Amino acid sequence: MLPADQHVHTQWSADAPNGSMRQACVRAAELGLPGITFTDHADLTTLAVSENAAAYIRAIGGQIADGVYTPPPLDVAGYVGCVRECRQEFSDLRIRAGIELGDPHLHPQEAARLAAARFDLIVGSVHSLRRDAGYADVADRYADIPDADVVREYLAEVTTMIETSQQFTVLAHINYAARYWPGRDGEYRSADFESEYRTALRALARSNRALEINTSGWLPLDPDLLDWWRQEGGALISFGSDAHDPDTPGREFPAAAAMAQAAGFGPGDCGTALWVRS
Ligand SMILES: [Zn+2]
Ligand SMILES: [Zn+2]
Repeated sequence: MLPADQHVHTQWSADAPNGSMRQACVRAAELGLPGITFTDHADLTTLAVSENAAAYIRAIGGQIADGVYTPPPLDVAGYVGCVRECRQEFSDLRIRAGIELGDPHLHPQEAARLAAARFDLIVGSVHSLRRDAGYADVADRYADIPDADVVREYLAEVTTMIETSQQFTVLAHINYAARYWPGRDGEYRSADFESEYRTALRALARSNRALEINTSGWLPLDPDLLDWWRQEGGALISFGSDAHDPDTPGREFPAAAAMAQAAGFGPGDCGTALWVRS
């Protein structure tokens, strides 16, 4: 049995111009997923952007003023209303309204305000790293320092987020920094950062939260991360395609589920959301 997809973006995310909540539901039903949890972006960090990053942001319709990008706020009422309509139309699919909360540890008050809206799931993500002036999107941080230093900085920030924010229950894309690895000093190998990964995973396991297997396709599925997660005491996993268009919910889920089973995890009692250590 395939797991629910618990990380899906729609037209309510600024970086998903081709998103469609309704079509994502159609796709999830076609694939036979037991459920889909929408996690549109609630990003709170204002970014100082390089020229490269600015070109990307403008391409998706974002506004930059004086080299600074302010992510648009999530229209919570509009988004939740759209989820409600989909629930009526797709009554056989378990549809949940979550958010992907970016850098909650940097914005504790705003994160608490959003969490008070009682979403069905909050996925916590580090998307930003400090740079000399302000913050950089993680992809953009490679413009400042060597490749390996970005990954180490990222994992240190993930550990800080886990230790200082209680506002999320699933850690999204722990290997996000590697998605943008430029390869200036060779190939990315997660084993080169095992100790930093283990530190973050240990903190997450101690707080009884779930690790996401992100199947966005930017990186091959990484069984090492799951082995380390289990060894550090991790008990819960969530599956997320991080889809930004309606064709990709559930992407690579058969392979991800097989990898999770090989690492000793299986469906929980309800069979529709988190998998548990067996
Ligand atoms: Zn993210
Ligand atoms: Zn995402």
